[in-house]
Amino acid sequence: HLIDEINVQKKELIGMLAANTAHEIKNPLTSVRGFVELLELKYDRNGQDPHFAIIMSEIDRISDIVGQFLLLGKPTELSDEPSDVIAVIKDTTHFIMYDFEHHQMRLYSRFQHAELYTPMSHDQLKQVLINLLQNAKEAIPEGRRGIIDIKVQLHDDIVITLRDNGTGIEEKELKRLFEPFYTTKETGTGLGLPVTRNMIELAGGSIEVLSTVDVGTTFIIRLPVSQSSPVLSDNDS
Ligand code: ADP
Ligand code: MG
Repeated sequence: HLIDEINVQKKELIGMLAANTAHEIKNPLTSVRGFVELLELKYDRNGQDPHFAIIMSEIDRISDIVGQFLLLGKPTELSDEPSDVIAVIKDTTHFIMYDFEHHQMRLYSRFQHAELYTPMSHDQLKQVLINLLQNAKEAIPEGRRGIIDIKVQLHDDIVITLRDNGTGIEEKELKRLFEPFYTTKETGTGLGLPVTRNMIELAGGSIEVLSTVDVGTTFIIRLPVSQSSPVLSDNDS
């Protein structure tokens, strides 16, 4: 029990540190990006020098990490504007499809409902899906045709099942999956999953993972049905 409490405090401290540092990095980074853009306009109007693109993409990478840090520490308010899970999935998969097809991957999605509202903003839910889809993509080994499958069902909660046929995760790694900074990738941040879980739990949901090495991984996300959702108000009347 005491260990649990210490772990919670440690988690909060890490989150706070990350968020504060991120906040301090954000402003100077924005100004550096602006000045690099100015320099490029001044010295490389025709885009001859590849270094500018490299600097920009590295700055954007830092920005990305810093953005995840911010999400980690700051438990953003529960959205009072529910979003439609089905619409967000359609939007996100549409957005990511081009990249997937480029890598010879297939992405399937199946829905039993036209719309399902949950108390999470469109942007947050989109971030959750992007984090999970990105991981699924990165888990497909070289030479295997990736298949990623999204299914949405309504039980008491909205249940989103996201399955991939990637490398899978070993039993002992599974426990550490949601720890901040836990990564097995050379350039990973280890922030995608903790941020994802934070956002889901904040909305009153949960996330669990099942995995078999060399067969694939399944994430199961449960999200509550939004109180102000049209699904409920239909039943009320
Ligand atoms: P990152 O992607 O930056 O490593 P994440 O928090 O998103 O950080 O993921 C943490 C780790 O969990 C990954 O490094 C990887 O080892 C493992 N992981 C996450 N999703 C999957 C998946 N779909 N298949 C296999 N391993 C996964
Ligand atoms: Mg990730």
